[in-house]
Amino acid sequence: MVATPIGNLQDLTPRAQTILRSVSVIAAEDTRVTGQMLKHFGITTPMISLREHNERAMSEKLVARLAAGETVAQVSDAGTPAISDPGAQLVAAVHAAGFKVVPVPGASALTTALSGAGFMCPHTLFYGFLPPKSRQRQDAIAPLAGLPYATVFYEAPHRILDTLNDLANGFGQDRIALVARELTKTFETLRRAPLGELLAWATADANQQRGEFVIVIDAAPPAEPDEANAHDHVLRPLMAELPLKQAVALAQQITGAPRNALYERALSLKADNQNDEEIDTES
Ligand code: SAM
Repeated sequence: MVATPIGNLQDLTPRAQTILRSVSVIAAEDTRVTGQMLKHFGITTPMISLREHNERAMSEKLVARLAAGETVAQVSDAGTPAISDPGAQLVAAVHAAGFKVVPVPGASALTTALSGAGFMCPHTLFYGFLPPKSRQRQDAIAPLAGLPYATVFYEAPHRILDTLNDLANGFGQDRIALVARELTKTFETLRRAPLGELLAWATADANQQRGEFVIVIDAAPPAEPDEANAHDHVLRPLMAELPLKQAVALAQQITGAPRNALYERALSLKADNQNDEEIDTES
């Protein structure tokens, strides 16, 4: 599995060049696209086409070639194979047949954009492409907005405005995000701003709607602790074992919170409990 450049040909690693030169065959997504890259490096290894629609059948053929002692490199049009690209079925088939899978790292729009985002959150969710239709896209975005992960999306130029609009509505206009356009290419643009601003900026300038895009959205900020119930985890177990006044006194010692606030909260928890019990008895 050989990563290839996402724009700048100098990003094809020396190791990738050696492998592409030495394997029996290169399984490429579009042989014309990969052919141009190979030509640049003077690599003449034969190619066959492995695309989404023929990946299953082609995987069987390639496993048979491995069984016959040949070596196979798989590449996609750009970046790392099997990342929003064909390759996973082939890799699964090669594992299943007991042959060695060797991932050869290099460029990916995912890691390139993420390294230029500057988000502190240590966790990342790679989403890839959102659905093309707005309704499904909004449904896909809704459960992501509150997650504590920086989230990475791929998008095509003809959908960038619609997608930014849905992202700004779903994640909120103020959520900080990065639009990374044309990474490693001449018109590379990285812009980090609140989603609402990014939408306005891209809408106002047709040039910013051209090319290839990665959008990285910063993680949801940690939820503000709700003042009223911030000490429930202390009050509840104490109230289960002790009279209310004692439970509040102990909760005050443990949390240092004002006694009146704890007392009021304890009363309201007690009332909730009583209501729940009455509902239980009625049903
Ligand atoms: N396997 C590839 C990788 O490792 O990044 C991704 C393939 S996916 C079919 C293509 C998408 O990746 C594009 O629509 C765009 O979202 C993103 N992409 C690829 N090259 C890019 C670039 N130079 N700048 C920004 N985004 C890019």
